[in-house]
Amino acid sequence: MWSYHPDLLARPVPRYTSYPTAMEFADDVGADAYGQALDAVEAATPISLYVHIPFCEQICWYCGCNTGAAGRRHRLADYLAALQSEIALVAKRLGGRGRVQRIAFGGGSPNAIAPVELVRLLDLLLTLFDAHRPEISIELDPRGFSAEWALVLAAARVTRVSLGVQTFALHIQQAIGRIQPLSHIERVVAGLRLRDIDAINFDLMYGLPSQTLADLDDTLEETIRLAPSRISLFGYAHLPHMIPRQRQIDASNLPDHKLRFEQAWHGYERLTNAGYVPVGFDHFALPSDPLADAAREERVSRNFQGFTEDDSPVLIGIGASAISRFPDLIVQNEKRAGVYRDLIASGQLTAVRGAVIDADNRERGHIINELLCQGSANLELRWLRSARSALADYEHLQIIRWDDDRLVVEDDGLAYARLIAAQFDRCRGAILCDDVEDMVST
Ligand code: SF4
Repeated sequence: MWSYHPDLLARPVPRYTSYPTAMEFADDVGADAYGQALDAVEAATPISLYVHIPFCEQICWYCGCNTGAAGRRHRLADYLAALQSEIALVAKRLGGRGRVQRIAFGGGSPNAIAPVELVRLLDLLLTLFDAHRPEISIELDPRGFSAEWALVLAAARVTRVSLGVQTFALHIQQAIGRIQPLSHIERVVAGLRLRDIDAINFDLMYGLPSQTLADLDDTLEETIRLAPSRISLFGYAHLPHMIPRQRQIDASNLPDHKLRFEQAWHGYERLTNAGYVPVGFDHFALPSDPLADAAREERVSRNFQGFTEDDSPVLIGIGASAISRFPDLIVQNEKRAGVYRDLIASGQLTAVRGAVIDADNRERGHIINELLCQGSANLELRWLRSARSALADYEHLQIIRWDDDRLVVEDDGLAYARLIAAQFDRCRGAILCDDVEDMVST
């Protein structure tokens, strides 16, 4: 088992789906910077598109996503109209530059909209952007899945589907407000495979109310039997002061820190013993999956959807709260759907906050990415003195080691990878570069 250091685990650290993190986004970096970044995209630049659908048929109590109930259909229709306008606006600004290689639909639950609406959005994207047979993926709420959806996804050439599974234990499903029997998930998986959609991801969770190791083990056993090509195993974060819907969850029987730690370890051990390749600290892929290839070849990176083999330098997020990333910039669209619609109606790009990636941020972000995705990072001389000093305690605990100038997270230290990476975070860590001024001016 990984070594257990409760004092270290108690320290809050970001998930680093970007660096700088969303907490450092500022209001003075918005639509103007976004427009300039779009203008700087070159004809052959690979682009990934992300389309955000912030609606769900049923809201789960644990969910921290920017999503709302899809009940009022006119609200959904207004949002889809705004989304189409934003697609047209961004495509016009690009003027045919950039080559779209991937399109991802996320949320929320993209299947909160009707299948025909998804097809319309996809048609618009394929018509207005330069996209030749892009890889198309979608997140689905299994509860709203139907044979019609499988048919439409196959016809639309969707190749990867992510399913929110979380747990198969009925008593936990009741405790988190998300009932979906194992037999239903089996039907969804079979329905997708029937249409030759074999790239299926499962999202699972540990640290859920009243979840025991045996509950988790049962879910892992059924998961391994169903053999999704990728699995994410996330720890539930109970933050009712920030996420009011979580107040519906009885916090009195949440697993304690020790049990959470054992669950994370058990998941890692069970899935790797079953042949899954570990990717980063919470993803697993079948050896035949492209993410496993990327892990073997040290090409994995981290973006807003987790660990990925996507190497496009430009990610354009479309929809309320969607995040776009360029080599020198990260921006986030307006989160409030009403304000987002108003901005679009007045013909404006909707980015309202973000961060400029300067040379120091870029280098820190690269080191953080390497540590989280590859488990090691080569450090330039200018970082070494400070890093060796700041990480001495971790070395003493045998969580890290140094191979000359290479910082290596030990297998035993995987649970602390984010904490180690955070030492390189300009806002949270202690590590300084010896010649920051030189770097900033390069
Ligand atoms: S279906 Fe997914 S996005 Fe929607 S509320 Fe549940 S967990 Fe959140």
